[in-house]
Amino acid sequence: MPIYEYECGECRKKFEHLQRRLGDVPTQCPHCAGRKLKKVLSGFSVSVPSGGHQHEPSAACASCSHGSCPHSGH
Ligand SMILES: [Zn+2]
Repeated sequence: MPIYEYECGECRKKFEHLQRRLGDVPTQCPHCAGRKLKKVLSGFSVSVPSGGHQHEPSAACASCSHGSCPHSGH
């Protein structure tokens, strides 16, 4: 099951949503219960504040969410 990332337009916090079936989308922000939810396209996250992932984002490193990236140096 795919996990999609959403950003709340109210509190600007991001959260992940597990899509159990097609068209299953979150209706409320788990942080503030806001309803202005925007789907974040994973793979091209320019600024990820958490995780200490510091190197330049690229397609090869998009799936890397750890501090030590096996793709760094390219
Ligand atoms: Zn919120």
